[in-house]
Amino acid sequence: MLFDKFQTMADFQAELAERQVTPFGAVTEEILSATEGIVEGHRVILAGTNNYLGLSYDPRCIKAAQEAAARWGTGTTGSRLANGSFAEHQALETEIAGFYGVDNAIVFSTGYAATMGMCSTLAGPGDVILLDADSHASIYAGVRLSGAEIIRFKHSDPDDLAKRMRRLGDRAGQALIIAEGIYSMLGDVAPLKEIAAVKREYGGYLLLDEAHSMGALGSSGRGAAQDAGIEADVDFTVGTFSKSLGSIGGFCISPHAELEAIRFCITAYIFTASSSPSIIASTREALRIIGEEPERRTRLWDNADRLYQGLKALGAKVGPTASPVVAVEMEDRSQTIDCWKALLESGVYVNLVIPPASPSTNFLLRNSVSAAHSTEQIDRIVAAYASLKDAGLLPTSRES
Ligand code: PMP
Repeated sequence: MLFDKFQTMADFQAELAERQVTPFGAVTEEILSATEGIVEGHRVILAGTNNYLGLSYDPRCIKAAQEAAARWGTGTTGSRLANGSFAEHQALETEIAGFYGVDNAIVFSTGYAATMGMCSTLAGPGDVILLDADSHASIYAGVRLSGAEIIRFKHSDPDDLAKRMRRLGDRAGQALIIAEGIYSMLGDVAPLKEIAAVKREYGGYLLLDEAHSMGALGSSGRGAAQDAGIEADVDFTVGTFSKSLGSIGGFCISPHAELEAIRFCITAYIFTASSSPSIIASTREALRIIGEEPERRTRLWDNADRLYQGLKALGAKVGPTASPVVAVEMEDRSQTIDCWKALLESGVYVNLVIPPASPSTNFLLRNSVSAAHSTEQIDRIVAAYASLKDAGLLPTSRES
């Protein structure tokens, strides 16, 4: 039967309903600030938002959105090709290109459309794509659609990438390499210096998804490539407005003038409505703010460090280094669900991540830190994990 393949999901949903947990359908009943809300009746610290710079509640962004809605209306009601671009869209394209110091930019309606659209369009039948095995779903969706030959290299392993490039022989020069800046689930940063070195040795093109690293890394917030000093090696940078910029939408920037021709070949750009002007206006304001207020990045990393060190001191299984995404590794599905629920009840909302959304077979409680968190809020998050530990629920590493 057509629906048979959904039975596993239906069984899982039934299990969650029986245990009275709603990790994937949790309703936020109220937002109190960039870091607090009421979720499923609990007043919580929001520690799973990706709101890295806390801009979703910035009064300047809200004002820009309100004024744009009053001036341009609530929606564009069509795609940019069919209905024409609003001046706001073009202004944002100019500004995002300027932010990255390049001439070419495309604004998309979501980050997913940006990544999926670029990955599905840049390479086609006869081409080769080499992608990191832990790539985001939008990258996988794009490369599958492209019709290109797909080769996965081991996660953040430049030697494995080099080996596979070597095997390609002459074809390596035309290959598209895809990596991310900060990986969304474990918060690790790609070894971009080494990946860029492989590209320099074998040729090819590099597309980087900076969804989680734009705003968080780099001297002016351009992301992991800026931080690693390899921006000149990146051919296409894709990213999102839904994280550090606190709105929704996506972008691709490139030093290649061909991006303008590519724009009109991307179905995820052509056949979907463009973002509403209020979204674009708040994004423009947020982009201006991240350029002018680097102290937000400092605050983000102070908070990331504090959360990471606090969880590590408890013996929680965290990654090797601090990051705005701090993932706590759990042992199995049932335990992850129990801990997620216990955290919610003690006033902390985090993301529950289970396969296939997590890389490999990891069960994770994923915390994301914001510059808007106060030190006291970070300490309360750590205290909530300490309570889990006291209750014997939190798996700890052997040394602790
Ligand atoms: N790329 C990566 C690496 C992501 O993590 C995400 C979203 N989590 C996206 C793209 C899609 O962005 P958006 O949710 O803004 O559509």
